Amino acid sequence: MNLSPNETQALVQKTARDYAERVVMPRAAAIDASEAIPGEVLQGLGDLGLLAVNVPTDLGGAGAGTVAYALAVQEVARACASTAVTMSVTNMVGETIAHFGTPSQRSHHCPILAQGHHGLGCFALSEPDAGSDPGAMKTTARRDGGDWVLAGSKQWISGGSAAAVFIVWARTLPAEAGARGLSCFLVEGGTRGLRVGRPEDKMGLRGSSTVPIELADCRVPADALLGQENEGFKVAMMALDGGRIGISAQAIGIARAALEESVRYAKDRHAFGVPIGDHQAIQAKLADMRTQIDAAELLSLRAAWLKEERRPFTREASMAKLFASETAVRVCNDAVQIHGGYGFVRDFPAERHLRDARVTTIYEGTSEIQRLVIARSALAV
Ligand SMILES: Cc1cc2nc3c(=O)[nH]c(=O)nc-3n(C[C@H](O)[C@H](O)[C@H](O)COP(=O)(O)OP(=O)(O)OC[C@H]3O[C@@H](n4cnc5c(N)ncnc54)[C@H](O)[C@@H]3O)c2cc1C
Repeated sequence: MNLSPNETQALVQKTARDYAERVVMPRAAAIDASEAIPGEVLQGLGDLGLLAVNVPTDLGGAGAGTVAYALAVQEVARACASTAVTMSVTNMVGETIAHFGTPSQRSHHCPILAQGHHGLGCFALSEPDAGSDPGAMKTTARRDGGDWVLAGSKQWISGGSAAAVFIVWARTLPAEAGARGLSCFLVEGGTRGLRVGRPEDKMGLRGSSTVPIELADCRVPADALLGQENEGFKVAMMALDGGRIGISAQAIGIARAALEESVRYAKDRHAFGVPIGDHQAIQAKLADMRTQIDAAELLSLRAAWLKEERRPFTREASMAKLFASETAVRVCNDAVQIHGGYGFVRDFPAERHLRDARVTTIYEGTSEIQRLVIARSALAV
């Protein structure tokens, strides 16, 4: 067993860390306050291959693998969680198209997403009345001549206001078919009939726009179908298994930032004549934070490694996502506590980390859904 990154993984990690520290971290508070990620920040990620870390090189990606991807997301999330989720979804969409796409879908969309100059990859599965249970979705796709016509509403679409392409799930069999009647489609940003709604006013991740989209008889050509007709649920589950590794890495990055700031603060801030870090109650918090973050990282990298080895990793990705996201919320909450009153104001980043961490237990499958996945696998043994 070797727990050190190989040469490629270390290079991607260092590239991401250098860029995150130099370009992203200094802008993180402004990204949160202005609710926008500057275009040049995303283009910089694209120029470094960080928007398509695990997409093959012949499709414009870095071809560096899932472990490198997880390490890169951590570094960017440590600097700015909003930027990291944008990076993470675009990677997931590029990878899904690379995996399920036809040669022309792959060669058209993957290089565009990898560059980051022409918009983001978006994942449009959730609906106003269907989140944890995509089989309940109402959006439909019907054939009309050689085209598909999509109708319905999607909710919570990350990056949707700057999309190059959406993967949109829609029902292609009657509702009774549940999750077995879904298909997915590639819909380019700006397609007639696709309307992007007002960004949500969120607790955290304020730099990443999250929008509803409306599909009003949105017509796409026959070759916009991604994967096999009626097998869209399989595409969604495969994408989300990988996506959960990304979210675990995002949570770990946020938690690492919160811990680093807590350590700095514990050395600087004095109470009762000594740095607060000399008080055992603070030391115990720091020790638990460090231990939980390391445990989360081991789970995350194990899931990434299994995926890279093409071995089953669904349960391990759920375990990593569950543990890392719940760890991030605990760690960021403790970081606020360590900062005392200063943890509650925007002059210090601790409150932003807590706001940003909170959604990691919700999106790409809530903690309750991760526990279902893990328990099913435990009971099947
Ligand atoms: C900031 C943000 C960004 C997002 N980005 C995207 C995106 O880009 N693309 C996309 O498609 N979606 C996105 N989502 C949607 C996200 O994945 C869903 O919010 C999530 O899957 C939960 O669905 P829901 O909100 O409908 O909650 P529900 O499914 O209504 O769940 C409500 C509660 O019930 C619990 N619950 C539901 N079913 C069960 C069960 N069987 N057992 C136990 N408990 C259960 C849930 O865990 C939760 O606590 C995003 C959400 C947010 C907040």
